[in-house]
Amino acid sequence: MTGAHPGRVVVVGASAAGLAAVETLRRDGYDGSLTLVGAEKHLPYDRPPLSKQVLSGSWPVERTALRGQADLDALDVDLRLGVPAAALSVAARSVTLADGAELAYDGLVLATGVRPRRLVPAGTHGVHVLRDLEDAVALRERLGPGRRLVVVGAGFLGTEVAAAALTLGAAVTVVEPAPVPLAHLVGQQVGAHLARTHRDRGVDLRTGTAVAEIVAADGRVTGVRLADGTRLPADDVLVAIGSTPNTEWLRGSGLRVADGIECDEHCAAAPGVYAAGDVARWPNPLFGTPMRIEHRTNAAEQGMAAARNLLHPGEARPFAPVPYFWSDQYDVKFQAYGVLRGSSQARVVEGDLADGRFLVAYRTGERLTGVLGAGIPPRTLRGWRTAVADRTAWEEALSVP
Ligand SMILES: Cc1cc2nc3c(=O)[nH]c(=O)nc-3n(C[C@H](O)[C@H](O)[C@H](O)COP(=O)(O)OP(=O)(O)OC[C@H]3O[C@@H](n4cnc5c(N)ncnc54)[C@H](O)[C@@H]3O)c2cc1C
Repeated sequence: MTGAHPGRVVVVGASAAGLAAVETLRRDGYDGSLTLVGAEKHLPYDRPPLSKQVLSGSWPVERTALRGQADLDALDVDLRLGVPAAALSVAARSVTLADGAELAYDGLVLATGVRPRRLVPAGTHGVHVLRDLEDAVALRERLGPGRRLVVVGAGFLGTEVAAAALTLGAAVTVVEPAPVPLAHLVGQQVGAHLARTHRDRGVDLRTGTAVAEIVAADGRVTGVRLADGTRLPADDVLVAIGSTPNTEWLRGSGLRVADGIECDEHCAAAPGVYAAGDVARWPNPLFGTPMRIEHRTNAAEQGMAAARNLLHPGEARPFAPVPYFWSDQYDVKFQAYGVLRGSSQARVVEGDLADGRFLVAYRTGERLTGVLGAGIPPRTLRGWRTAVADRTAWEEALSVP
């Protein structure tokens, strides 16, 4: 395959990463056969608005579409939607779909994402997770004045939903086992700031306590029981306790899978096989550490990188991004560049946590490794992003006036 383009490319997973891969292949001149396989019946749509604009009702669901049918037609893609891939043989270079179809490939991109972890099996009325359009619509329909929502887990998803639900008039309780929400990710100070923000608005945020049981009667949720025995009544419960990579179908494929599809720094999992987005784990050379990133921008960037390396393996480039994410909570936009998790120091370098407009820099070893801003202009943030990308020493980064 080196030099000449592959004749048949299959992309599995029809969301942000898979779409970026398909579009990049065509943009870069690939004119062979191209198949996009997606478990969901929808054309690719965007997930971040599900916990924000769709949940709060400010967007109709149609606005989440990433592309229309005409755009996909123009790409000359054989779309297989509503049918998951069921098996892969790397040795035979073949993907088997759940409907029995066999797709032989010369090049393959895997972009199957993640799914929510659950506390109880799906089916109890009023117990929700939030990953796809149907989840968002189901939750949206249940929220409003007089409704009681308990959110299990105060991560970014849980806190965004708490903000949207409160805005819709629901009474919201959030239960989080950690003493400070999100502290493992953004540090104690920012975590405490987020906790204050939610409490000030009226969220009943219970930290340092875990949900022991989701309580239901006649197949309908009635509330949760906490580890200390407290019972919290609820009309609805959202379980937002993290995700699991969609890799079960790869068992026996010949690929290495351990909390994601293991790739090299070129996003290659095997010759001709690449992975991208939430499901991919790869060593990011910029930070010298393996990563699996569940961020929207990374899905698109990695989809592009995987497609390029698949097309031009002789000139394959390491995928070395500065991770980026944002989160909208009430009227504040949080944005972060780099790696914040596991940092040894976090320092406010601009603004003030108390007034809600601030920038925090994160240090790992002797380097600036990340930065998080709330209500900070994009231009300021971009400067810090460059400092992270340039592997700037901590002291030097902080000495800039
Ligand atoms: C509610 C919500 C809010 C978010 N908000 C933000 C945010 O504010 N900022 C941010 O940076 N990120 C956010 N994210 C994360 C972001 O949406 C993800 O990082 C991004 O969607 C990942 O794209 P992906 O293509 O890798 O995977 P996914 O979007 O998970 O897509 C994978 C696709 O593959 C399909 N699939 C799975 N298994 C198979 C199979 N065997 N065969 C075929 N298809 C399969 C799935 O059905 C799915 O459609 C949010 C996510 C959610 C759910």
